[in-house]
Amino acid sequence: MKRRDLFRGAAGLAAAAALPLHLQASPAQEANPVVAPLPLTEYQPKSMLRVKETRVERARFPLIDFHTHVTWSDGLDGHEVMTFYAQPNEILPVMERKNIRLMVNLTGGYGKGLDKSLRDLHVPYPDRFLVFVEPWWSKSPEPGYPKFQADQVEIAHRAGARGVKVLKTLGLYLRENTKTGALVKIDDSRFDPMWDAAGALNMPIAIHVSDPLAFFTPVDRFNERYEELHAHPDWSFYGSGWPSDRELQEARRRVMQRHPRTQFVCLHVAVAEDLAYVSECLDAHPNMFVDIAARIGELGRQPRAAAKFFDRYQDRILFGTDATPKGYEFPQQLFGDELYEIYFRFLETEDEYFDYAPAPIPPQGRWRISGLGLPENILQKIYYQNAARLLKLPS
Ligand SMILES: [Zn+2]
Repeated sequence: MKRRDLFRGAAGLAAAAALPLHLQASPAQEANPVVAPLPLTEYQPKSMLRVKETRVERARFPLIDFHTHVTWSDGLDGHEVMTFYAQPNEILPVMERKNIRLMVNLTGGYGKGLDKSLRDLHVPYPDRFLVFVEPWWSKSPEPGYPKFQADQVEIAHRAGARGVKVLKTLGLYLRENTKTGALVKIDDSRFDPMWDAAGALNMPIAIHVSDPLAFFTPVDRFNERYEELHAHPDWSFYGSGWPSDRELQEARRRVMQRHPRTQFVCLHVAVAEDLAYVSECLDAHPNMFVDIAARIGELGRQPRAAAKFFDRYQDRILFGTDATPKGYEFPQQLFGDELYEIYFRFLETEDEYFDYAPAPIPPQGRWRISGLGLPENILQKIYYQNAARLLKLPS
């Protein structure tokens, strides 16, 4: 042993003694300084698998992206202010390259905000952008709200909105009166006229409730989405005061049950980690559909179950990405060529073990996915026909 190694060993041992037991180096690590503890954030293993890599630059068939966020507004403040993340001229070239015929901007806002998103997206490009209306949450504690909200849906329909978008605001953020009041329930009867109005006008409801199951468990070393929750602590719904995922899902089921003539698209595969439960819901509720937005990470890590799911429910699954033309904070949603190519690869190829998001570290959990290699007839339904039927477009 050289003098240098002796010195390092002694200093290392002294430093290690101050560390908690689970962070101290093992005898094997002491003997080989290369095997030093490595922070999780710096770990970026490269796969040594030699497997097929297919680049799918363009979708095999024209598609509808049913789930995008070109615009965004604060749903709770009632200010009707609309933010555009990108202008049509920045989005259209990507749509051309990727074979995206139509994008549905779900977060179209309410009141004056909705007018602006319709005016700048749908009116100039009626065949390329559709816009959904959002409920006017800030007015929900007021008397007369049930009728007001149903009327808003009708007014939005006349103005050109094609569906209603409900964010997870309902169930997880919207409270009675004050910020500290009780959470408003998803199946609260004050929304019944709104669900019915949408059904009568053939406007599908795009509804996101709950969140990934790991967001409802402790943020500790057993949490499979630890890094994501560590980066976004406010995404955790673990602890007292929060409903469980299942409570939220069951409340949405009661709404679908009560409004059989209204079509509900349960976003993010409803609960993508539990396809058996989603299947049970789809079997029970003929007016239920799902989209796959921001959940190919879940579907692609259970590719055999997912392929069966796509086969069985091929008429009720919609293509969506959650694409948002803004920033790099959520790489799994970053609008652009790269995002779409990953979705195409997942649906169209049988490639194995590839990244589900354009990011150096998988942002929704450290795993990779395998493609489904869907047959062409199913692909056409998922890409276009199912959404076209719901949106009353020519097929
Ligand atoms: Zn979304």
